[in-house]
Amino acid sequence: MSEVSKEYNFSQVEEKWVNAWDNSIYYFDWESNRPQYIIDTPPPYPTGDFHIGNALNWCYMDFVARYKRMQGFNVMFPQGWDCHGLPTEVKVEEINHITKNEIPREEFRRLCEKLTEEAIARFRKSMTRLGLSIDWSNEYITMSPQYYVKTQRSFVQMYHKGLIYREDHPVNWCPRCTTAIAFAEVEYDQRTTTLNYMRFPAKIGHLEIATSRPELLPACVAVAINPADDRYKDYVGKEVAVPIFNYKVPVLSDPAVDASFGTGVVMICTFGDRQDVRWWVEHDLPLRQAIDRNGRMTDTAQAYQNLSVKEAKEAIINDMLDREIIFKQEPLEQNVGLCWRCKTPIEILSERQWFVKINPEEIKKTSEKIQWIPPHMETRLKNWADSVEWDWCISRQRIFATPIPVWYCRSCGEVLVAEEEWLPLDPNRTKPPVKCRNCGSDDFLPEEDVLDTWMDSSISALAVSGWLDRQDYRMPTQLRPQGHDIIRTWAFYTILRTKALVDIRPWDTILVNGMALGEDGHKMSKSLNNFIRPEEVFEVNGADALRQWAALGGTPGNDIMFQWKEITAASRFLQKLWSIYRFSSPLMAKTEAVPSQVDRWLQGELDQVIKTATEAMDSYKFDEAFRAIRVFTWEVLADNYIELVKARLYGPDGPEKRAAQDTLYKAIETLSRLMSPFIPFISEEIYYSLTGQSVHSQGWPKGMGMEPDLAGLQIKDIAAAIRRYKSEKGLALNCQLAGISVYSDLGLETTDLQGVANSPVESKTGKPDIEMRATGVKPLMKVLGPIFKDKSGRVIKALSDMDPSQVALMKASGSVRVVLESEAVDVPAQAVDVVTQTMFSGQAVDLLNVGESMVLIKR
Ligand SMILES: [Zn+2]
Ligand SMILES: [Zn+2]
Repeated sequence: MSEVSKEYNFSQVEEKWVNAWDNSIYYFDWESNRPQYIIDTPPPYPTGDFHIGNALNWCYMDFVARYKRMQGFNVMFPQGWDCHGLPTEVKVEEINHITKNEIPREEFRRLCEKLTEEAIARFRKSMTRLGLSIDWSNEYITMSPQYYVKTQRSFVQMYHKGLIYREDHPVNWCPRCTTAIAFAEVEYDQRTTTLNYMRFPAKIGHLEIATSRPELLPACVAVAINPADDRYKDYVGKEVAVPIFNYKVPVLSDPAVDASFGTGVVMICTFGDRQDVRWWVEHDLPLRQAIDRNGRMTDTAQAYQNLSVKEAKEAIINDMLDREIIFKQEPLEQNVGLCWRCKTPIEILSERQWFVKINPEEIKKTSEKIQWIPPHMETRLKNWADSVEWDWCISRQRIFATPIPVWYCRSCGEVLVAEEEWLPLDPNRTKPPVKCRNCGSDDFLPEEDVLDTWMDSSISALAVSGWLDRQDYRMPTQLRPQGHDIIRTWAFYTILRTKALVDIRPWDTILVNGMALGEDGHKMSKSLNNFIRPEEVFEVNGADALRQWAALGGTPGNDIMFQWKEITAASRFLQKLWSIYRFSSPLMAKTEAVPSQVDRWLQGELDQVIKTATEAMDSYKFDEAFRAIRVFTWEVLADNYIELVKARLYGPDGPEKRAAQDTLYKAIETLSRLMSPFIPFISEEIYYSLTGQSVHSQGWPKGMGMEPDLAGLQIKDIAAAIRRYKSEKGLALNCQLAGISVYSDLGLETTDLQGVANSPVESKTGKPDIEMRATGVKPLMKVLGPIFKDKSGRVIKALSDMDPSQVALMKASGSVRVVLESEAVDVPAQAVDVVTQTMFSGQAVDLLNVGESMVLIKR
């Protein structure tokens, strides 16, 4: 045991355990009778690298998984990979300088798969180095047929339940990515644009209209005014002509028109924004689609056909300025909807797409059966549910995604949805094994659209619980950890889909965590140059230090800032822990001995920290749990207990020594287990050297049922008071005093106090028979001077010559009478101090009051 190094070599210890650990101890046991604890972990997009934000979230999950495992639960901590979707496609397009349509579909998909596999390998490496207790026997990869068969079967089941349908409907469209996207994927940003005032001629004059999007003039299907707006009431029910394009549209009245915007007259286009869609439906207006899927003008735009939206806007404005149709322009601050992935302004196009029905009330009701931590995050879900106006558009005009298992009969147009037993399949590569049910033809067109990637990830809870693979699938799962940024997507869609497919809530609890911010307080991003990779921290301070940072910032729901100084502080704690272990290693022992008062006090403190940590872990307050452990280790164990019992530990063998050895062993053994969910490497190193077993197969510590020992606590405080006394008197800490008597009704043991004070200590009950003796007089010049002026010197001399006990008596009565040569003067009490000395049996002693105890020190 003597070869414990002085410095804690984190990289050597961490690397050793990363290689030595047997991860199969973390596998979920499908046959076990223990209560299950399944974590519906987020499958990350494997693009780029595993970053600090990922590390933070995975640490939280690991704290929970390890804690629950130690509590005896049958824990599943699966790892999924949400492969499909735009980020990877866009990346492949960037790397290869192509767009998806320039190479064959299969080739494009292969490039996406390769990029994803590389990223997964990088992520796995970082996760392993971070010491996560992931259950790799429950890994899932959404791009693999084993997973997407489930996505496809969920599609078919919901189709047959009438919850999925295909329809022409306005959708949010990204012209750059050339795909429909869902509402949850539209981001909003402020942009400055121009508001153009123009005239629409009518039979009885003209209407002035202001618009920021004159390129949508060919898509105009009506103009509208507010019914309360008297300025234009004569126009309602009449027609106006659309300038440049010269066709007539009706003038409607609608209370949703904002009379204070522009001129108060609004042009309704198909479609400028969501409000246009509402009016289009309410007033049953025709469709004029002026923009196509690629963001170019259609033939509806007449002379402007084939121009991009931007080009058309410029050309139309110029033409209207030339013809003096536009008579005024002013800047306008506007909220613009952007594609979440590529930030291109979205258009609203009417498209034939696949949709999932959204029932906001059912989602809210299901959500109420789930425990939300912190609770206010549920409001975000409910507000979103109330704001969703259209169903969830799930078809995407992309490639790298789960195929929609559908064909269309070329002869009669009949829709053929695959049977579940035919799946998985890609309709572009597989013909249906049946003929058209309507006309008997076997000539089919495959569905080329693919599914929104949230269709994959929204069945993650179902997939990990064994749904479709096992009769006894384990719904609901116990915990969903996730970020607050994906409540309207991942949380919302998972609740919707689980309820629709198996009619139950997906989880018992959802734990919403914050985001990792850079040292500058901004969201970490490469472009802001505040980006830290976990590998940098592994290199400098190790994984345990990073995990401590995560634990201490871990108040659920709050964002947490990455700070190197906290990593450094974490490192210092690891070194302190190591020093404690190094000191204790040759001294502690597991043995039978009757604990002393001080030992019982420490065991009581240990029980207390177990209780605090357990309660905090049960409510996911990782910061509280770890802080309690750290305070115990540093202040209670190292600064107090070890200092108190050093003399016993170094002393001769006997019951007192063995009690200290055993208590120290218990403390360090228990601490290793308490710390193991947070800092698994150093905990393992210490625990393994103590017991020869892995700490990660052990149970969570239970208290020994020790009440806090008041006598031991008192001894600890007296020891501190003696140390303080020596330091105030300028004495060395090991300086021997003539004798110490401790008076306390607790019947204090003296061994450890003798050790700390390096002096004889006797323990007594009751109070010492002491008296206070006046031993000197101290005149105060500052008070005397102004009163006695030139007499001051004589007054002071006289005071100093007086009997101190006499002065004390007179001072108590309010003033001290001093006799000078010829006169007597009265000195006010506040002008003189009397120096006293505590006396015991005729000897001068020093007295310390510590709680209920009195400590007499003979000099
Ligand atoms: Zn886009
Ligand atoms: Zn047919």
